[in-house]
Amino acid sequence: MKVPFSPPRVDQKTIDAVTEVLKSGWITTGPKTKLFERRLTDYTGCKSTLCVNSGSAGLELVLRWFGVKEGDEVIVPAYTYAATANVVVHCGALPVMVDIGDDFNISASAIEKAITKRTKVIMPVDLAGFPCDYEKIMSLVEKDSIKQMFLPETAIQKKLNRILMLSDAAHSIGAGYKGRKSGTLSDIAVFSFHAVKNLTTAEGGAICLNLGNDFDNERLYNELNIKSLHGQTKDALAKTQPGNWKYDIIEPGYKCNFTDIQAAMGLVELERYDDDMLVRRKEIFDRYTSRFSTYDWAQTPVYETKDKRSSFHVYLLRIRNIKEEERDRIIQKIFEEEVAVNVHFVPLPMMTYYKNRGYDIRNFPVAFNNYSRVISLPVFYDLTNAQIEEVVDAVVGAVESLRN
Ligand SMILES: *Cc1c(COP(=O)(O)O)cnc(C)c1O
Repeated sequence: MKVPFSPPRVDQKTIDAVTEVLKSGWITTGPKTKLFERRLTDYTGCKSTLCVNSGSAGLELVLRWFGVKEGDEVIVPAYTYAATANVVVHCGALPVMVDIGDDFNISASAIEKAITKRTKVIMPVDLAGFPCDYEKIMSLVEKDSIKQMFLPETAIQKKLNRILMLSDAAHSIGAGYKGRKSGTLSDIAVFSFHAVKNLTTAEGGAICLNLGNDFDNERLYNELNIKSLHGQTKDALAKTQPGNWKYDIIEPGYKCNFTDIQAAMGLVELERYDDDMLVRRKEIFDRYTSRFSTYDWAQTPVYETKDKRSSFHVYLLRIRNIKEEERDRIIQKIFEEEVAVNVHFVPLPMMTYYKNRGYDIRNFPVAFNNYSRVISLPVFYDLTNAQIEEVVDAVVGAVESLRN
């Protein structure tokens, strides 16, 4: 492959940092994890951050903490990666899928229509790194008529007394919305540090806590931390303190803690994220846009507006007036030029499991239209300008050969 899709950024600095942890004698959750959590809190401006071993685990931990269970509904976009809806299914609740807007993000008006008295959580996804319409969605959950519909069942739900806003911010670390950063735009946001994400620790995720003043976010950090390690009151590091061996199990918790090896990678990446990683990613986006803007068949994505700034996660090029089969043929031709492209995402109602559960893509026309015309182009730190030209040539060649 002349141009891969998104290899992780790993250089000598990353290797040295991981080696240092390997040699230190402490490789699981420990001081590096705690440091990375503090740095993430400072970086985003949220109130507290807990790292876990994946974004999916982070989302599920929050749903479980909020008491989401059978009979409950959680509103998710139809256009997302499976993790968003699967974690709802894990909890026994119903993912209520809604359509998206032209920017690939969940539609606030579609959310409003989908809210029922069983709705416990809304999970917007900042697709491709572009923040959702948070003000609109937050104003929905605060709206009197919608608050009156909310039926709290647990002590936590009673305290919040409205629908929880849990952002799937898997794509959007570093994105901005009205002067605030992703991680602070809803009650709780979860990042993913999976290998293909902007900031990677191989696998991993972080829960950014941002609940209002009725909640003690530090205490919540401790609660979720215990939940992420079998309900154990002391983690492995605390137990190594002299005489501090005794611990208790206060609930049948999960096992999704983060490791210091992952934190070592994360600390290196976070330090050079704004001034280097995001700068390069934006340059790549700008180059694609300026090259494709000259073709009338190309619909380039919006990634910066007055209020919003993307984290430049994936570049979603749409081809105007084509059908799914034509898009698939274009992708085939691009691959023949040894350029790796992708589709983010096949909408969930088209996936066998969800189809079998009765979800029907015909109910999500915008999601289907976007899906059938989209091609995600390579974006990664080490992508060279010459490679960008190869991508552009391959795409232009493929589209024009189809049209002739
Ligand atoms: C990657 C991703 C996740 C899950 O992250 P993991 O860390 O892989 O569990 C969730 N939602 C979306 C939209 C994603 O792309």
